[in-house]
Amino acid sequence: MSELQTYQGPATMEKITSLAKRRGFVFQSSEIYGGQNGAWDYGPLGVELKNRIARNWWKEMTRLHDEIVGLDAAILMHPRTWEASGHVENFTDPLVDCKKCKARFRADQIPPECAAEKKCPECGGELTGVRKFNLMFKTRIGPVESDDDSAVIYLRPETAQGIYVNYKNIMQSSRLKPPFGIAQIGKAFRNEIVTKNFIFRTCEFEQMEMQYFVKPGTDVEWFNEWRKRRWAYYEKLGVKTDHLRWHQHGADELAHYAKDAYDIEYLFPMGWKELEGVHNRSDYDLTRHTEYSGKDLQYIDQDDGNKEYTPFIIETSAGLTRTLLMLLCDAYDEEKVADKGGEDDYRTVLRFHPAVAPVTVAVLPLQKKDGLAELARDIHAELREDFATGYDQGGAIGRRYRRQDEAGTPFCVTVDYETKENSSVTLRFRDSMEQVRLPRAELASRLFQEIKAYKRTK
Ligand code: ATP
Repeated sequence: MSELQTYQGPATMEKITSLAKRRGFVFQSSEIYGGQNGAWDYGPLGVELKNRIARNWWKEMTRLHDEIVGLDAAILMHPRTWEASGHVENFTDPLVDCKKCKARFRADQIPPECAAEKKCPECGGELTGVRKFNLMFKTRIGPVESDDDSAVIYLRPETAQGIYVNYKNIMQSSRLKPPFGIAQIGKAFRNEIVTKNFIFRTCEFEQMEMQYFVKPGTDVEWFNEWRKRRWAYYEKLGVKTDHLRWHQHGADELAHYAKDAYDIEYLFPMGWKELEGVHNRSDYDLTRHTEYSGKDLQYIDQDDGNKEYTPFIIETSAGLTRTLLMLLCDAYDEEKVADKGGEDDYRTVLRFHPAVAPVTVAVLPLQKKDGLAELARDIHAELREDFATGYDQGGAIGRRYRRQDEAGTPFCVTVDYETKENSSVTLRFRDSMEQVRLPRAELASRLFQEIKAYKRTK
């Protein structure tokens, strides 16, 4: 790849998709067979980024709170769960087909002028009537091939229900009482009618959900509190706040269970889209599970004369894979770095927060020879215990910096001849491209400091 890049303008989905593939963030699933719609594979940089986003969310949502604990529930749940939750009956999208070109659409996403005339947005052909299409993936469990309904089981379409059905187990085993929360990260599956915009809407994805159980009457206060906290979470990650906004669900959008609901939306290259939902789910979930399971899921309030109540639930529900796409878009930048004799030189840089960057620090020997590579390897070995590290010794140093910029590595350590003489190294900052010289012995503590103090400026 040439060091000289031509400026192409701001982030577009094409650029993000192509960078993601070229650098090994995300590949199309089963690409050699022509790809599988709605499914994507996370490559070496992608899986690191995804894991780090997940760990960061986990820290923010569990470790920093006394009263929030974690759960990893099974993807396969008792089918009654989905009757109780309302998914069997209500988790449907309105589907229409074009009789001419056979394209398939969600009726609620067709442009109004096409919807009014019932014509295909792609070819102008006639559309079928609206059919309800359930988004849950249905399969069978056990050695049965027949249509025996008793063997039907679903891949969970959300992680939340695993939390609700475990709420009593967790409350008792962890000696918790409302208000308290349960957090979970895991896969969810939806048979989405339209999957486009890269990993934005997929059939297999991951969610990061936290369900907060509160006393009825305190729900509005907690709902507002969690809205504030979730906004602050994105600010802390350095996300451009002018690319974030709230969207309150109107009466026509509000789910059957919700008392109030807001989405945090992000300005993706294709427009404002939902990133996370913060919902006041009332006592709907636990009431329904009580009804369908026959188990008493009320809380006995010993601080209030043993009065019983069904907790209200405040939900914060974010997509992990959608957050990854958001961070790729938000971090993406093309920056003019030099004027090379009439031709401008641009670098592509991902300005990830060090808390989530796939590689925090890369170690680069100036040359392979004269013992510099061995020395760099030694420094790398020391750092990798505490940091997500990379090592690169191939090619010109400038080109290697660019490669790290494009992977979003916030810090590079360069090992040169002076390192051999006086054990000092160069620390290079991704965002400013500034370099400082410091003793090798101070490197780790300086990195910890820089990570903690990081503020995005560009
Ligand atoms: P939509 O109405 O857009 O289909 P939703 O409002 O049903 O989505 P939720 O059920 O609230 O979405 O899901 C919570 C979060 O999970 C979303 O904010 C999103 O980040 C993520 N999510 C939901 N569906 C998908 C999907 N198909 N692919 C990727 N992420 C998803």
